Amino acid sequence: MLQRIIPLDTGKLLTRVQLDAYDPESESWQKQFARRYVHHAELDGVLNNMENVNETVYDKFAIAVTPYMAQLMDPDDPQCPIRMQYLPTFHEETKPGFATMLDQLGEEGDTVPGTSIVHRYPRRVLFLVSNTCATLCRFCTRKRMVSKATGSVHKEQIERSIDYIAANTQIQDVLLSGGDPLTFDDQRLDEILGAIRSRAPHVRFLRLGSRMVVQMPTRVTPELCAVLEKHRVQMVNIHINHPKEITPLLRRRVKLIQKAGIMMGLQTVCLKGVNDDVEVMRELFLQSIEMGVRPYYVYSTDMVEGAHHFVVPHKRMLELYEGLRGWISGPAVPTFIVDGLGGLGKLPIIPSYVNEELLPDGSGTTVKCRNYKGMTVEMPGLGQDFSLPTQSN
Ligand SMILES: *Cc1c(COP(=O)(O)O)cnc(C)c1O
Ligand code: SF4
Repeated sequence: MLQRIIPLDTGKLLTRVQLDAYDPESESWQKQFARRYVHHAELDGVLNNMENVNETVYDKFAIAVTPYMAQLMDPDDPQCPIRMQYLPTFHEETKPGFATMLDQLGEEGDTVPGTSIVHRYPRRVLFLVSNTCATLCRFCTRKRMVSKATGSVHKEQIERSIDYIAANTQIQDVLLSGGDPLTFDDQRLDEILGAIRSRAPHVRFLRLGSRMVVQMPTRVTPELCAVLEKHRVQMVNIHINHPKEITPLLRRRVKLIQKAGIMMGLQTVCLKGVNDDVEVMRELFLQSIEMGVRPYYVYSTDMVEGAHHFVVPHKRMLELYEGLRGWISGPAVPTFIVDGLGGLGKLPIIPSYVNEELLPDGSGTTVKCRNYKGMTVEMPGLGQDFSLPTQSN
């Protein structure tokens, strides 16, 4: 039986008519959080043409949809890019052998024992502070922790994590993620961020990854932004996969974060059927820079159980990148990333525009360049080292 984060109280769930009239800004984020739909039976009558999936998909990965997110879903079309991200389909019941791992990225192997710190790269750590999110994405890379979460990472575990950051003075960069750090209330965030800042003055860059900003923009309040500003959080990364997720409400709340002097980045997961399309990506990244949010990473879907049908082949990702570079503003072009199996880490997926080749006579190399339109030119000089030999008297 699925453990529900909020006890099911149908009285709190909005019917279709109520949802159409619902103003997410009319109540606190906590109240909206309590109105999440957590079973497809609860969405019956709210959305039409729901796929009748086997209950076992819920045992593997819970469902959660905020009313605001439900408003963005097309009530009739199962191919709606937002529905596809959040509602289970029969694809999840089939699983090719390779797609059965829950910790595909080997994060557990890089976790500091007793903490929720993943210390994989030099001088920076990933701090998984929360183990839940406002809305659960079917392709989630951290299904192993967010699905049946009870709400928060153990207090002692957070304490030990902060101890670790404080004791390891080589750590310059702390990335708070989860789950979603914004599922904590402002007071708890204030405590955690305050403890990092006061106990680890060696930390130069403090950033936070949150999808709640997008799934429930009303979580972003002037009070929250004051907490982030007080502890000098320098960057907030949000996660958007389709232009349909960018609304006037989101823009207004993003502006509040920016007014606190915090730079913002966008991360996107490349999802088959949702955004594996050059026009969709161009529009998403342009809308993103329009609101002053810099596209940062496009991740390949991780091969976690029940997500294999979203995976876009590497070759197609290269084509998507080529459809962006040169064609839209440079700052709108993110880096494409695949996270290597078992802890290899982030690897950029970059098409090759400049190739060095050996000259047929073996006398040196020539560099062949190709631009975004496919025009090519040879640049022999680029293969040479023009530095002068050291003069001897
Ligand atoms: C992504 C990630 C980071 C941050 O990487 P950046 O490239 O600096 O954004 C840090 N630690 C882990 C384990 C990560 O997966
Ligand atoms: S927001 Fe991120 S961590 Fe949360 S369910 Fe979606 S992919 Fe997973």
